[in-house]
Amino acid sequence: MTLTLHVDGERWSAHLHAVAGAMPGIVPVIKGNGYGFGNRALARRAGELGAGTVAVGTYTELVDVLPLFGGDVVVMTPWRPFAAASVRPERMYDPRVVHTVSRVEDVAALREVAPPGTRVLIEGETSMARHGVDRHALAAVAEDLGDLRLEGFSLHLPMTGDNLAEADRWAGVFETSRLRGLATGAPVLSVSHLRTAELAALAERRPQLSVRPRVGTALWLGDRGAFRVTGQVLDSHQVERGERVGYRQRPVPAHGTLLVVSGGTAHGIGLEAPTSASTLRQRATSVAKGGLGAAGFALSPFTVGDKQRWFVEPPHMQASMILVPSGVPVPAVGDEVEVDVRMTTTQFDAVDVR
Ligand SMILES: *Cc1c(COP(=O)(O)O)cnc(C)c1O
Repeated sequence: MTLTLHVDGERWSAHLHAVAGAMPGIVPVIKGNGYGFGNRALARRAGELGAGTVAVGTYTELVDVLPLFGGDVVVMTPWRPFAAASVRPERMYDPRVVHTVSRVEDVAALREVAPPGTRVLIEGETSMARHGVDRHALAAVAEDLGDLRLEGFSLHLPMTGDNLAEADRWAGVFETSRLRGLATGAPVLSVSHLRTAELAALAERRPQLSVRPRVGTALWLGDRGAFRVTGQVLDSHQVERGERVGYRQRPVPAHGTLLVVSGGTAHGIGLEAPTSASTLRQRATSVAKGGLGAAGFALSPFTVGDKQRWFVEPPHMQASMILVPSGVPVPAVGDEVEVDVRMTTTQFDAVDVR
């Protein structure tokens, strides 16, 4: 009945330790669906890896992560006056939580509700243009901090382009800013999306800052061979070409076996995140390659006999109907079939680590 994520525990663990070893001061990112593994499992792993700090996406994610990870937890979504609606104040202002501040007008509001000594990073606006203060507003933010404790800075960088140059420009601004309220010792510079060599270069150029890489995908999902995903065959029916089946009673396009397999929209099957690869030309190519695609059928992520098979109709909530054409060996009810999913959009029924 299950869509299962199978993890080769030893291989995955070896990969995690290798990445952590290559990136001193790594801050594992734990957010969303926990990159497929679940946030609670990642919180435990981060502890085993010896990380002193992890980063969550939102305040609500503190609920799962704080109890299972003993170190500091950075909340990457910047604090806003309405953030308090999402989580109890004891958690939100737990002494292990480090807040991100990204707008001048939020500082006074945070000071009003947060206990003295509440820890903050100031985020600088990068070419991402997601969150962050303008370089000229840095002094104004720092002026306002009062008894909040400024631990350092944060940058969110794009995944393309020369990120080292941009990070270094900001690092220079931070280094020379000598902001009041800055904690003693090397202030943190928390960065995303720099390669190992770039991190080393940045740390070397900016010895007064403690460079901390925030890493999610490259850590948890960096060794794709360490895990695989399967759905289970729940049912199997002989079908004739033209026979009408399913909610939509569409004619089946070929003779063969209709398989009902576990994995549907509730798991995220068939719901792809929008991809930047969908240029007109690429879309035209896929229609041209089409076959059944041109006839309005969609290729499923389920593999039978080494090939992805077509959906007979759009996936149901917890199961999908796929067509195995005659001539291809048919798996039995209860067998597992491989599924190719996007890890950050899939909700698994079970995670099997062995
Ligand atoms: C998600 C996120 C990261 C980690 O991104 P990955 O590509 O998964 O490594 C780092 N910083 C911020 C602000 C994020 O939102």
